[in-house]
Amino acid sequence: MEQPLYSDLENRLARYGRVGLANLPTPLQPLKRLTEHLGGPQLWVKREDCTGLGFGGNKLRKLDYVLREALDAGADTLVSGGVVQSNSQRQVAAVAAKLGLECHLAVYHGRLKPPTPEYETSGNVLLNKLFGAQLHHVPWTGDRNLAIRTLAEKLSNEGRRPYVVPYGVSNGLGAIGYATTVLEIARQSQACGFAPRAVAHCSGSGGTQAGLVVGAALAMPNTDIVGIDIDAEPDRVRADVLRYGAEAAEMLGTSFSNERVEVVAGHAGPAYGVPHDATIEAIRLAGRLEALVLDPVYSGKGLAGLIAMIRSGRWTRDDHIVFVHTGGEPALFAYGSALLSSADGA
Ligand SMILES: *Cc1c(COP(=O)(O)O)cnc(C)c1O
Repeated sequence: MEQPLYSDLENRLARYGRVGLANLPTPLQPLKRLTEHLGGPQLWVKREDCTGLGFGGNKLRKLDYVLREALDAGADTLVSGGVVQSNSQRQVAAVAAKLGLECHLAVYHGRLKPPTPEYETSGNVLLNKLFGAQLHHVPWTGDRNLAIRTLAEKLSNEGRRPYVVPYGVSNGLGAIGYATTVLEIARQSQACGFAPRAVAHCSGSGGTQAGLVVGAALAMPNTDIVGIDIDAEPDRVRADVLRYGAEAAEMLGTSFSNERVEVVAGHAGPAYGVPHDATIEAIRLAGRLEALVLDPVYSGKGLAGLIAMIRSGRWTRDDHIVFVHTGGEPALFAYGSALLSSADGA
């Protein structure tokens, strides 16, 4: 029998070990009612919110590979960071608890004004504390990794063996971890009898898109990877996708083509972390039609962007499009009072 196209990617990925933290493969499911509501294309969802540990999300897949390196290096402490409601640091806190490592997080304040009274205490903040992470509050300066590195140095001087998990778990190794998603989508879509025209997702620190682009170049060359900027910084997102993608491609012994990187601007709303009408509409549609829980910072904006692209006529009714649900549900509760008034309304 002929080898499937994805075996090359599979063989290259096999050189890297994973810890086994994430529940994989995640399901690929049809979104029949949303498809009908929009009049096509044929929509599917890749449930990266179902990776399991500590409420799951897309960072666990990257952490599965990054943490292999941390354990091999004999680390006893994980150091990472993010904004107050970061899903990334919550997933780092979860894996630290599971592996019995200490966890220190630089919590950035001031990237956005707290949108609700519960923003500082609910959702991911509550979970970080539940998982036993130690929170270090620092001002947001725009440099995503400086305070994390400073914290790691301090812990190292105190005699710990810290391992730095970068902001968003985005680096070359994280992108390699994320390329495994392509392997799963290739297998699952083949089993369901379709070839995706595009895989769409929201893009922030860039590692997710970098992994998808590197993986798709090898295993799904006819599928577009459409990254929807939710940071309101499309040029910065694109630059980071190129950087981590090139690193991952080199580590996998393959080439990286900048032309395959599509970062779509214009759907981030007024600013990072601030939901707007299109986001709220997307969250409501996904809830009412599919019982799919999206969040106002990432996946809700991602679906809002995808819906706008569908309405602009990019695809035909018969195209198959995979939306990657990257997770983030806990943040929904930190935005509850900002969303409730509009969710009540219709
Ligand atoms: C981090 C995150 C993203 C973006 O992934 P990047 O690899 O940072 O681009 C998307 N959705 C959710 C829910 C996230 O937490």
